[in-house]
Amino acid sequence: TETITVGELAKRMGVKANDLIRSLIKMGMMVTINHPLDVDTATLLASDFGYEIENVAIDLDEIFEAVPDAPEFLQKRPPVVTIMGHVDHGKTSLLDAIRETNVIAGEAGGITQHIGAYDVELKGRKITFLDTPGHEAFTAMRARGAKVTDIVILVVAADDGVMPQTREAVNHSKAAGVPIIVAVNKIDKPEAKPERVKQELMELGLVSEEWGGDTIFVEVSAKKHINISELLEMVLLQADVMDLKANADKAARGTIVEAKLDRGRGPVATVLVQDGTLKVGDFFVAGVHSGRVRAMQNDRGDKLVSAGPSMPVEVIGFTGVPDAGDVFICLPDEKKAKEIASHRQQKLRETELAKHSKLSLEQLYEKI
Ligand code: GDP
Ligand code: MG
Repeated sequence: TETITVGELAKRMGVKANDLIRSLIKMGMMVTINHPLDVDTATLLASDFGYEIENVAIDLDEIFEAVPDAPEFLQKRPPVVTIMGHVDHGKTSLLDAIRETNVIAGEAGGITQHIGAYDVELKGRKITFLDTPGHEAFTAMRARGAKVTDIVILVVAADDGVMPQTREAVNHSKAAGVPIIVAVNKIDKPEAKPERVKQELMELGLVSEEWGGDTIFVEVSAKKHINISELLEMVLLQADVMDLKANADKAARGTIVEAKLDRGRGPVATVLVQDGTLKVGDFFVAGVHSGRVRAMQNDRGDKLVSAGPSMPVEVIGFTGVPDAGDVFICLPDEKKAKEIASHRQQKLRETELAKHSKLSLEQLYEKI
C-alpha cells in the first residue's frame, strides 16, 4: 500500500521538508524525511502551514486518499448499495420493500422520511441503501469523482427482461468496477420468465452461479415481499467477499448524497460517512461550503450524536447548500474550514468568470 512520507507531503504542500520536520518535532515527533504520516498528522501539519492553505485546499482530497490506515485501525464496515434498473422494473418498490421489511423487524410504525439514503439491519449487520433516483445520481456522483457505492443491485422485471436502461446500468457498474447482484423482480406474475432474464444477462457478461459464472441472481417480488431477506443476505455475502473496511477512529470524511434548503432548518444535507466518525460539534468543509454539525438524524428521525463509516445522516449546520457528490471533510478547527471553503468559492468564481469571458469572446467573433 501507498504511504505519504514527510518528503512527499512537503512537496505537495509546496513547503520545505525541513520546515515540516521542525513542526513535527514541535508536535513531539522525531522523524526523518522518509517517515510515513497518518491522515490526522498530515491534516494537522497542513493546517499548521496557514500560508499554504491554497495548496492545502486543492490537495486535501489527495492527502486523505494517499494516506492509508494502518491495518490494525481498520474495522469491518457495512456495504453501501445502490439499486439500478430499467424504469418500472421495480426499483422504488424494492427500496420500499427492503425498508418496510426492516421497519417491521425494528420499531413498528416508525415514520420514515426521505433523506436520500437509509440503513437496514439483518442479523445484527447493517446495510446502507442510497435511494437517490438511480442512474442520474450514480452517474452524476461518479462524474464528480465520488465513489459511494460498493454494490449495485440490478433490478430486472421477469416479465419484461433486459431493456435499454438495464444495459446502461450494467455498463455504469462495470465502468465503476462495482459488483452487481441481480434481483429478478416480479416473479409473482404469471408471465414471469426468470430464465429468460438469466439468458439475456449472460449475453451482457453476467453469468449466474448455477451456470458456472460468479454473478448472484435472486428471484424476488418487491410487491409480495418474496425473498427480500434472501436478497439482503446475498448483499452481506458479497460484502464479506469484498472485505469492506474503514477506520472509525478518526475525523470523518464522506460524500454529500443529497442537499436542500429547508424553510425552518436552513441548509440540510445527507452525508454518507465513508471514513472516520462524524460527531455533533465537528467542523467541516463540503464543496464550497463549510459549517459545524449542529444536529444529525437518520431516516427514522432518530437524533444522533455520532455516525461511523457507511452511515448516512442528515446534517444541519451548513453555511450553504452543497452539491450531491461533494466531498465532506471534517477539520480540526473552524478557521481552516472557512478558509478552505472561501478559497474554493473564489476558485469557482474565477472559473465561472473565465467561462463568461470566453463566451463573450465567442459571441464577439460571431458578430464579426
Ligand atoms: P421503478 O420505476 O423501477 O422505480 O418501478 P416501481 O417500483 O415504480 O414499479 C413499477 C410498477 O411495477 C408499479 O406499478 C409496481 O407496483 C409494480 N411492481 C414492482 N414490483 C413488483 C412486483 O414484484 N410484482 C408485481 N406484480 N408488480 C411489481
Ligand atoms: Mg422509481
